Amino acid sequence: MSLARRVLLASAALTVAMTATAALRADEPVDVVASFSILSDMVSVVGGERVRVETLVGPGEDVHVFDPAPADARLLADADLVVLNGLGFEGWIDRLVEASGYDGAIVVASAGIDPLPGGDEKHHAEDAGHDEHADDDAHADHDDHDDHDDHEDHDDHEDHDEHAGEEGHEEVQHRHGAFDPHAWQDLANGAAYVRNIAAALTLADPEGAATYEANAQAYLAQIEALDRSVRQAMDALPADARTIVTSHDAFGYFGHAYGIVFLAPEGMNTADEPSAAEIAALIDQIEREHIAGLFVENISDNRVLERIAEDTGVVVGGTLFSDSLSGPEGPAATYLAMMGHNASQLSAALQGF
Ligand SMILES: [Zn+2]
Repeated sequence: MSLARRVLLASAALTVAMTATAALRADEPVDVVASFSILSDMVSVVGGERVRVETLVGPGEDVHVFDPAPADARLLADADLVVLNGLGFEGWIDRLVEASGYDGAIVVASAGIDPLPGGDEKHHAEDAGHDEHADDDAHADHDDHDDHDDHEDHDDHEDHDEHAGEEGHEEVQHRHGAFDPHAWQDLANGAAYVRNIAAALTLADPEGAATYEANAQAYLAQIEALDRSVRQAMDALPADARTIVTSHDAFGYFGHAYGIVFLAPEGMNTADEPSAAEIAALIDQIEREHIAGLFVENISDNRVLERIAEDTGVVVGGTLFSDSLSGPEGPAATYLAMMGHNASQLSAALQGF
């Protein structure tokens, strides 16, 4: 069965896909490979000691520019279950699955959520300045790709990524499809991810059903409680403190769920220190769009930030986590910690706006 076919089955009818999975030995943990750190955390919480989770794109690494290595293919080859975000987030997964020979179930954690459309904004620094790659045509083949049963279009797919620039796959565009993939930034979607993960683990390891159910219910209660407190905190912000500029264009779902507007800094390559002209354009944007908060990481010169704040009255905030957890010692070591951290960063910065 082809990958695309199996992904469809995994999202539409998990049972069918799972019948192909080899029976697990009772004393062995379920070997799960998750595509990135946020999913790994979710799988660990739901699976507890019954699972052993490996992560392809670890904390602090960038899914959008990930380049799978032979070791990653070996991880997949040994897996009982693979968990992906879906919505085009893991543009590299087809060729990795093919390279690994993995033929088990693939769970799409975002299955069943209500996706937001993908924009054409830049998000990651690496992508800035490659406008031609962000157009709809560049994405169209990804969607077609999912509908095909054969693997021939892999070549097209990779060619497409490579036409973006001299650096080849280093230039993979943030937006891989018609949808914004960052659905976990809405805690209600995070709850859907957890339910999908619990269902998949139960199918892979029916003996653990009660454990997965209990762990998932406890986790869902925490997610729902955090959702309420994030909503309260955002509702408490002044009405004119709801438009933010951030260098990570990954908060569409957060904004949609909690009533905040996130804009990218116009015309700025968010990888490098901005030029004087770019700073001037940013100041112009802040004033024109009535921006309340600035959460950008590429301006490391505090004097520049102070000048922008002084000139415009904008509040300069700290780090927001979007696509990756922090390390274990950081402020976003888990999904719940990340969502709470982002909300309190926004709240603390904008409360007095
Ligand atoms: Zn992203």
